[in-house]
Amino acid sequence: MIIKTREEPLELKLLRYLNNRMKLSDKEVNYLISLEKGFKGEEKYDDWLKKYLIGEWIVINDLLLNYNKNVFQIDSLLVSSKKIYLFNVKNYEGDFYIESDRWYSPSGSEIKDPLLQLNRSETLLRQFLVDLGFGTQIESLLIFINPEFHLYQAPLKLPAIFPSQLNRFMTKLNMSTAKLRFRDIEFAKKLVTFHREDDPYSRLSDYSFDKLKKGIICAGCNSFFGKCSYNTLVCSKCGFIEDVVSAVMRSVEEYQLFFPDKKITMNSIHEWCEVITSKKAIRRILKKEFRQLGHGSSAYYVNE
Ligand SMILES: [Zn+2]
Repeated sequence: MIIKTREEPLELKLLRYLNNRMKLSDKEVNYLISLEKGFKGEEKYDDWLKKYLIGEWIVINDLLLNYNKNVFQIDSLLVSSKKIYLFNVKNYEGDFYIESDRWYSPSGSEIKDPLLQLNRSETLLRQFLVDLGFGTQIESLLIFINPEFHLYQAPLKLPAIFPSQLNRFMTKLNMSTAKLRFRDIEFAKKLVTFHREDDPYSRLSDYSFDKLKKGIICAGCNSFFGKCSYNTLVCSKCGFIEDVVSAVMRSVEEYQLFFPDKKITMNSIHEWCEVITSKKAIRRILKKEFRQLGHGSSAYYVNE
């Protein structure tokens, strides 16, 4: 039973959009790449669970909790009547190694010790659960989901499941399943009510409407559409074809993510989409797809 599904992180979406419309620093680009990779790994983990996990479990994905002003994130919780598994999913690829308790990437640069984060999450979750009156045993594990990952000099007792162990670990999980109690389900539902949405805006680089490149971005290859003819956009780079209404709606969605406090007006969307030269066409789409408030030059549009 999945009580909370995973969604693409808002920060990833925003950074990806920003990367199309302005020049990001190398650090930001690297961060974007690591977010993309991390999310892909989590999706792979979700598929693995969906495909092979049987029996009575409650799955809670992607939780962001706050305990006594300590914010912590959990990739996945697997709740049974016997214990709770806390999983942090890593999509590392290549030959990593540990030396004097420090973790190194294949290029030899030191990376953040994933165990520190795992232990911190476990400690905070345990205290949180005690406060909720739910003192269940927790087992925390790093799940290395990428088959191309290897860790040299891994300590024997490392709380981790390596790619070659995933099948056996799943068998072990499936054999340990037990009937869920009403209170397990109630607890899981309660825990999810404490989830808070991430607010990535403060962490993003400084952007504004004027600074961002205008136009409609091709959904196939992320380049800008060159021109619009007969209500159709054709990408000159990858050949992707899109109906104008769908392309404008995608761009408005992007605009709303970038500027949650700004009003959607005919002028702002006309400028934002740029490649659509006709203001009338923009107005027609907005009128059809949104609810119009106000009239004349002060008209703006809100979601139905
Ligand atoms: Zn394209």
